Amino acid sequence: MKQPNIIFIMTDDHASHAMSCYGSKMNVTPNMDRIANEGMRFDNCFCTNSICAPSRAVILTGKHSHLNGVVTLLDDFDARQQTFPKLLQTVGYKTAMIGKWHLGEGGHSDPVDFDYWCVLHGQGDYYDPLMKQQGVDKRFKGYVTDIITDMSLDFIKGRDKDKPFLLMCHHKAPHRPWIPSEKYKDLYNDVEIPQPETFNDDYSTRCDAAREAEMTVDHDLTYRDLKLVPPEGQVKVAPRFNKIAPPESLDGYTLTPVETGIPVSFNSYEELKNFKYQRYMKDYLRCVASVDDSIGEILDLLDKEGIAEDTIVVYTSDQGFFLGDHGWYDKRFMYEESLRMPFVIKYPKAIQPGRVSDKMILNLDFAETFLDLAGVKIPDDMQGQSFKQILEDENAPAIQTEMYYRYWMHLADHGIWSHYGIRTMDYKLIYYYAEALGKSGTIDETREPAWELFDLNKDPHELNNVYDDPQYADIIVKLKADLYKLKAEAQDNE
Ligand code: CA
Repeated sequence: MKQPNIIFIMTDDHASHAMSCYGSKMNVTPNMDRIANEGMRFDNCFCTNSICAPSRAVILTGKHSHLNGVVTLLDDFDARQQTFPKLLQTVGYKTAMIGKWHLGEGGHSDPVDFDYWCVLHGQGDYYDPLMKQQGVDKRFKGYVTDIITDMSLDFIKGRDKDKPFLLMCHHKAPHRPWIPSEKYKDLYNDVEIPQPETFNDDYSTRCDAAREAEMTVDHDLTYRDLKLVPPEGQVKVAPRFNKIAPPESLDGYTLTPVETGIPVSFNSYEELKNFKYQRYMKDYLRCVASVDDSIGEILDLLDKEGIAEDTIVVYTSDQGFFLGDHGWYDKRFMYEESLRMPFVIKYPKAIQPGRVSDKMILNLDFAETFLDLAGVKIPDDMQGQSFKQILEDENAPAIQTEMYYRYWMHLADHGIWSHYGIRTMDYKLIYYYAEALGKSGTIDETREPAWELFDLNKDPHELNNVYDDPQYADIIVKLKADLYKLKAEAQDNE
């Protein structure tokens, strides 16, 4: 069979519960849904380390963080190591990496082995971003999602028609600070975004890790995040540190949106928290709307060029995100909203349209799957498994029913404790070992280690930690044995 083209579209921090094909109550994403409708949707796709750079490194290498070298956000990726794009290149693929790379700027971290590459510096800017094009710095005018889209369309149009291609189209959006395009700046102006069921979670059954997390909508969003005029004298501090904690009294207290310049006052703390939530979510969803347009343009071009049949298109994001769930933004925790990645894929030659699978797949499996689809032997040292069979046959067996997770960045950025854990189809067991272990960017203070157990069938929102409930004692013994077996199999000895 002819080797398929592969278009891997990935965003940064887009949670699946902000996609209409996953049942979003907040927005519609017709072009993301089109991939799902013409192909299939995975409802249990998880990442092994819910943080940007580490997840990207897992995707490229098919190896866990501790083996690919990107354990925390501050670790540079050594791009000389084995990756699936390089292996595809060796069998004749033309490869391109466009957009957000975010795997370091030093040493050997540039994506030099792609046939074409143009990547944002670090996190990248939403407007007029500085990019590195084949090693040369260049500033591009315009909105970042549009720039990455146009570059991707140009790569497809200018492809070598005798060869298959891999296009990695990686968007910055909808990463913080959630700055929308001009086109969508007024989208949702007259709409009230519904709050999630767990918006006012009090963490009462959880260990202290949840209470110490500094990523609440209520306390930790900043003037920059919410596009509010900062008070006089506070602008000297880096904008991301200007958090807006609720005041002691609401009397005379106001916040001023930059777009109107008109101060807003509040009758209650609930009203204040909701005001922040609305501003956060609306900008986030506006950023998503531009990505959805981008996907539509790519799908339309494939039709126009007559290559849709031969092309695999994937849409995913590097991890999930809290969209006010548990009162939070950001990710990092092993909780569902952060752990789960959107994953939709179409490939008309092999995938029946409209399929939905609840079989578990991981970011660790992507590299192996793409190699398998291209007919390339999967190297023995990759740690995931191909799910090609699941794509081709709805009766194919699951490739795994439990997964190993680890977050290493102890207390960094948002104060989340380091932890590892196991998720099965029914349970999640998390161990907060709460130590830095000398990893880059961590804070060298310890916390009292703690366990949490969730019965996912009874408690899908993970509000009820049942670790101390005697009726789960036998289950805990089994889950602990499985956790340490998975950890050993992953060759994680720390
Ligand atoms: Ca991310």
